[in-house]
Amino acid sequence: MELFTRLRQRFPQLVCLQGFSFSRHTSIGCGGEGAVEARPESAREAAELFAWLKGEGIPHFLLGAGANVLPPDGDYDGVIVRLCRLRGLDCRGEHIVAGAGVTGGALLAFAQAHGVGGFSPFSGIPMTVGGGVAMNAGVRELHFSDVVTGVLAAVGGRTVYLDRAACCFAEKSSLFQEGIAVLAVRIAGRPSAPEDIARASCYFRSRRASLPKGRSMGCVFVNPTGMSAGALIEGCGLKGTRVGGAFVSERHANFILCEGGTPADVASLISLIKERVKERTGVILREEIRRIPQT
Ligand SMILES: Cc1cc2nc3c(=O)[nH]c(=O)nc-3n(C[C@H](O)[C@H](O)[C@H](O)COP(=O)(O)OP(=O)(O)OC[C@H]3O[C@@H](n4cnc5c(N)ncnc54)[C@H](O)[C@@H]3O)c2cc1C
Repeated sequence: MELFTRLRQRFPQLVCLQGFSFSRHTSIGCGGEGAVEARPESAREAAELFAWLKGEGIPHFLLGAGANVLPPDGDYDGVIVRLCRLRGLDCRGEHIVAGAGVTGGALLAFAQAHGVGGFSPFSGIPMTVGGGVAMNAGVRELHFSDVVTGVLAAVGGRTVYLDRAACCFAEKSSLFQEGIAVLAVRIAGRPSAPEDIARASCYFRSRRASLPKGRSMGCVFVNPTGMSAGALIEGCGLKGTRVGGAFVSERHANFILCEGGTPADVASLISLIKERVKERTGVILREEIRRIPQT
């Protein structure tokens, strides 16, 4: 039976759509089509959906804002799950509880309106809260691991509350890279005047003005301990190197930009960079970006 029909039969209330464009819904802006998109409306429906997809062996991928992913090269015969309907926001003293589908911008605006500061370094990072927690996103001054106090996650078809220690945060990774979905998160800030928050956010946003413009996934590689991946790549003379429509940014060598290229162009350029850096410096670069697998 067709995937879409199976999904509709098992979850009659679930919002699901046939066809999903990776180029429209990812920041790198390339790739083919996913067969089905599903948008659960509650944490419980999401948890049941993930358990069913796993149990039935149906390929699926949880996509946030698509700011750190490389789509597959062809079409994807599976389900793209988006938690964009889990957009609840609640303020409890200095804590904010946010649904996984809340965008970074909405989170910051809500916190500012409620006089809760401490999150300004996240300003301008393209993300959903779920993707930010899963990737332990942030900048030098602050990462999600610094502010998360608990996560509501989907485990075995149920919603389970995990405290910070259980989230196994590390450099650009967390427990949630292991197929466990973030459904909501609780983060701790501090009381601040909205105008002070606005000023701090403006500072952190302006610092990002020098980042490359265009379609990218942000930094492609994690900085090796004590080193800058961008500096290593630049040192190997790779700025501007091109494969098809994908090329290494002249501004920041850890960014790959894509202009009319394919995921295969991007993937080939990533392999070329890794090989050249290993050959010239002995350093093995680890990818920060997540690849949506082929089906
Ligand atoms: C121009 C640009 C600048 C950037 N700058 C920064 C920066 O300064 N700092 C930084 O850390 N990152 C940066 N990034 C990368 C990106 O913004 C972060 O990695 C962000 O956390 C991605 O969130 P997302 O919602 O887009 O996740 P996606 O890219 O959609 O997904 C990333 C991974 O998280 C998983 N995921 C998504 N949602 C969930 C969920 N609810 N539960 C579990 N797993 C989930 C996905 O399956 C995937 O494996 C930048 C990207 C761009 C394009």
